[in-house]
Amino acid sequence: MIQELSYVGFASPRFEEWRTYGPDLLGAMLKSDGPDGAIRLAVDDINYRIAIHPAEENEFRYAGWGLANETDLHAYVGQLSDRGVVVRWAEEELCKEREVAELAWFQDPWGLRHELSWGKTATPNSFQPGRVMRGGFVTRDQGLGHVVFQVPSLMEANRFYADILGFRLSDRIITDYFNVRFYHINGRHHSLALSELPGHVGFNHLMLEYENMDDLGRAIDLLKRNDTEIMQTLGRHTNDLMTSIYITSPSGLQVELGHGGLVVDDLSWVARTYNKASYWGHRYSETAQSRPAGIINPIN
Ligand code: FE
Repeated sequence: MIQELSYVGFASPRFEEWRTYGPDLLGAMLKSDGPDGAIRLAVDDINYRIAIHPAEENEFRYAGWGLANETDLHAYVGQLSDRGVVVRWAEEELCKEREVAELAWFQDPWGLRHELSWGKTATPNSFQPGRVMRGGFVTRDQGLGHVVFQVPSLMEANRFYADILGFRLSDRIITDYFNVRFYHINGRHHSLALSELPGHVGFNHLMLEYENMDDLGRAIDLLKRNDTEIMQTLGRHTNDLMTSIYITSPSGLQVELGHGGLVVDDLSWVARTYNKASYWGHRYSETAQSRPAGIINPIN
């Protein structure tokens, strides 16, 4: 089984801007560039977890999912193959670039690429936040954070992500404006969410969680300096209880910066349906109201 969101990669013409956006605003640590010139960021002692590759258009590239060990990875790849998913093992060169021991990959029904790996490299005591922070990012047994994709059909996506891949439904939020399903793979309330956007597939946002509320507050103070817009004001979500803001990034996707997310116990967890996304706040900016957020493409 998949046990964590391990890393994420996307591409953008404005990739270079992440050299400052990542450390100065988010508080991530700038690491050495990738072989293609990608900007790479760490949020803990794992050597890097976020890569922004150079490209002419904003593109989602891959979500990296971590498994516990080599036995689990091989068993899981076998299981997916039995269920009809075409999974390919990656060459040594890609494993080296991602700094993992072994890597296999597949695409979802709409072409979103997912990578499976184990043994990602860490350097103990190496993480230093890119700006003044009181704490670090919430990672460890909860992984990097969460990713949210737009999919053309939530039911079809659920068949793939839940029934075939094994993501466990945390809950649903259904309002007049959106229909979203949230999935967990560890204690983090959701490492993956899927939002219905008929006719489209997209990468909506990446969420990073601070251990300390003050580091979220500081991010808000630093927004102006980094020419970054708030897309949803500070608010608190009904389902994962995260206090967060949503901000623009140089590359189409939004970044949700949060604190205080719920940890779920899978043994007793029962999926609910909520008709509100937030207890308070999360007011949409004018830009956010005018079009769906993220790197979005029509499906062929
Ligand atoms: Fe989120």
